[in-house]
Amino acid sequence: MSEKYHLEINGFCPICENETKFIAKGNWFRGTLLCTTCDNGSVPRERALALVLNRLAPNWRQKKIHESSPAERGISLKLKKECENYIGSHFFPNQKLGSLINGFRNENIEALTFKNDTFDIVITLDVFEHIFEPRLMIQEI
Ligand SMILES: [Zn+2]
Repeated sequence: MSEKYHLEINGFCPICENETKFIAKGNWFRGTLLCTTCDNGSVPRERALALVLNRLAPNWRQKKIHESSPAERGISLKLKKECENYIGSHFFPNQKLGSLINGFRNENIEALTFKNDTFDIVITLDVFEHIFEPRLMIQEI
């Protein structure tokens, strides 16, 4: 291991599908153990999501997927690129719900504007802890 990183390991990345190197520039591996070959990197929870999607919904590219609060890297970029019916949303509380803002649909996950049963898969990574009424979010999903 180099002195440059807290952790440096080789392995297979399920997002970019490469044998690659994972490096952590900090000791908070959950947020810093990045894939060096993913678009803009990826963190462990995103790689775990890719594994789950590939196992439970191997045809995810043909599914209708909504991702709440996608990151500009790794799995979110892959979903956007490879899944024709992918919609990423962010919540802009002072803007019209359902409108498109900076390429993202404006959605409040506690009160979505989509029709019921629009999506096959709904993804939230690191969203629950920001929700005031998790029951509403679960109900919407
Ligand atoms: Zn990768």
